[in-house]
Amino acid sequence: MKILVTNDDGIYSPGLSCLAKVAAKYGEVIVMAPDVEQSSMGQAITSAKPITYKKSPIYFEGLEAYRVSGTPADCVALGAHLFENIDLVLSGINIGANLGNSAWHSGTLSAARQAVLFGIRGIAFSVSVNEQEPDFEALEPFVKSALKEVVHENERQLLNINFPRKPEGEIVWTKQSIRHYDGKVIDQKDPMGRQHYWFTVTPIEEVEEGSDRWAVRHGKTSITPMILDLTDTKYMEERAKNK
Ligand code: MN
Repeated sequence: MKILVTNDDGIYSPGLSCLAKVAAKYGEVIVMAPDVEQSSMGQAITSAKPITYKKSPIYFEGLEAYRVSGTPADCVALGAHLFENIDLVLSGINIGANLGNSAWHSGTLSAARQAVLFGIRGIAFSVSVNEQEPDFEALEPFVKSALKEVVHENERQLLNINFPRKPEGEIVWTKQSIRHYDGKVIDQKDPMGRQHYWFTVTPIEEVEEGSDRWAVRHGKTSITPMILDLTDTKYMEERAKNK
């Protein structure tokens, strides 16, 4: 199996080398990641200027690794162009959970979604954090078992996997929680007294049972299967009925 590994935290993130290491068990791994952090870039592509890439073997012993002057979606597009027959794209492990509506903003999940646009399976990995850096050595066995659970599940093209900060080992298949949005704009003053605004994330208290957020809050690894089609088919059906 030929696996492209990418992320949105950038080529130097310890989450990327952890994922590449686990992926290498399943086949040939090519790492292609942004040269600087690209978190919250969503599925942006670089279209008004060229993209370049350079070899980046540091931290990736024995693996082919490249840093790209672009977004996570660019990395997937470039990887699919340069290397033939990529079977699977893995993205992450993001430092910070990608739960609920963060699916709209996440560069990590968007890289996996970009793979699906090219007809390649895409799986995103993220881990919850507090003020401390995640312990990827401790997380590694949980990444292994999550990947083992899904790696041969060919029907599901797009998966969003989230680990709690300290997983207890249970893996659950979940729904994306969309009832609450955690994005918020905070207004503050800069040191010169000028007004500025900061888009931030606020904790959500209420969680729907069976959702991604619920799973991670209860120490479980969450796997959410996703689809590309945003069409409101329920509305289409209701509308046709009422005509
Ligand atoms: Mn990130």
